[in-house]
Amino acid sequence: MSFFVQQHSIVFLKGFITLFLSCIIATRFNFCLSNSNIPFSFKTLPLEGHLSFDETTLNKASTDFGNRYQYHPVAVLHPNSVSDIATTIKHIWNMGPSSHLTVAARGHGHSLQGQSQTHGGVVIKMESLKQHEMQVHVGNFPPYVDVSGGELWINILHETLRYGLAPRSWTDYLHLTVGGTLSNAGVSGQAFKHGPQISNVQQLQIVIGEVVDCSEVKNEELFHSVLGGLGQFGIITQARILLEEAPSMVKWIRVLYSDFEAFTRDQERLISQDNAFDYIEGFVIINRTGLLNNWRSSFNPQDPVQASHFNSDGKTLFCLELAKYINFQHIDIVNQEVERHLSDLNYIQSTLFVTEVTYVEFLDRVHVSEMKLRSKGLWDVPHPWLNLFIPKSKIHSFAQVVFGNILTQTSNGPVLIYPIFST
Ligand SMILES: Cc1cc2nc3c(=O)[nH]c(=O)nc-3n(C[C@H](O)[C@H](O)[C@H](O)COP(=O)(O)OP(=O)(O)OC[C@H]3O[C@@H](n4cnc5c(N)ncnc54)[C@H](O)[C@@H]3O)c2cc1C
Repeated sequence: MSFFVQQHSIVFLKGFITLFLSCIIATRFNFCLSNSNIPFSFKTLPLEGHLSFDETTLNKASTDFGNRYQYHPVAVLHPNSVSDIATTIKHIWNMGPSSHLTVAARGHGHSLQGQSQTHGGVVIKMESLKQHEMQVHVGNFPPYVDVSGGELWINILHETLRYGLAPRSWTDYLHLTVGGTLSNAGVSGQAFKHGPQISNVQQLQIVIGEVVDCSEVKNEELFHSVLGGLGQFGIITQARILLEEAPSMVKWIRVLYSDFEAFTRDQERLISQDNAFDYIEGFVIINRTGLLNNWRSSFNPQDPVQASHFNSDGKTLFCLELAKYINFQHIDIVNQEVERHLSDLNYIQSTLFVTEVTYVEFLDRVHVSEMKLRSKGLWDVPHPWLNLFIPKSKIHSFAQVVFGNILTQTSNGPVLIYPIFST
């Protein structure tokens, strides 16, 4: 599903909005099947890994980050090899539809609505599949890395950085698996430039009963079905991810707007310019006081005196978040370019905050929030969550109603706005 086409083909801009509203009472479903329903034949399958049927493992496999839906499986497969997955799927297939057994691949279980669970079926725990080491190929252009479908993106970052390389397109949070994000899209502030993660994959190995390789030129239909296919077309056991040269440092910038139109105008302008920034996102700030004081712990105000006089008065504000990648030899040029691009923007002048961090610190930034929330026991709460693609033509009326009338009081959880191109 490579729906992203590079710059210059803009029909309309889409906002990608995440409403991550925690602590809202959620509906829970809990279906349980007894062990007597486990088909005996599973226990005799020739596997290098193993199947678990114990309650503790089954209960774990019936949870996710969303913490709102629970579907109880009858077994969890811990595959040691791709052939373990193929054997299990073939076995279930051979049982025929009357078995009512379904299969769900589980990456890191960070779905929001039970997508990596299955009621009365078999969960395949992809993180157990560690048969291949990651292999970085530097001699090709572009370079690439071959990774297991159960690999975490944070591990890929660390491994590829050893070669001075890194994947081009990310999610905001890296403790997710390759199979999990490639089954969705994988969108972050680099998507306007490189497309979502699914547009940065060269080939896949998929289990559909048999093991099949697919790419743009081989089994093309399967390739495009699996990418963004919500885990419904096959199990991703290996992926070839395109890489680029990794920057040494990142200049990370935040500025505020009180006017939504000015905010989106600047977002649109920036994504249309060649090489203005490497990452462009934004978020909405609702009813917050002391905001800039909080930023001071990690960002530096460009004008400390003016920044200390800024008062949000509890107004709804829009933060434009930008990053420019730096290689040490080009630092002066980068600084000049950043200043030039910032001078064209219409943000509130006193709210310009800048910091310089390593690439890992920048990409793994949500993990810092995760640690804080975990320490307060707030990470495992229910997470109602909504992702919307909104066309440019509707974004202003959407903002008027949603930010102007509905979300005027709550500040629970982030509301993120990603400007990207449509096809
Ligand atoms: C804190 C947080 C921040 C996030 N930020 C972003 C973001 O910035 N951008 C973004 O795009 N998304 C983001 N997400 C959403 C995230 O990309 C999805 O929830 C993703 O599916 C989670 O990956 P996972 O490894 O936990 O997958 P799981 O939840 O385990 O699985 C997700 C889906 O993929 C299927 N699946 C898993 N592995 C495979 C496989 N190997 N083969 C086939 N199907 C498979 C599952 O069956 C399920 O349908 C975020 C989620 C969280 C919790």
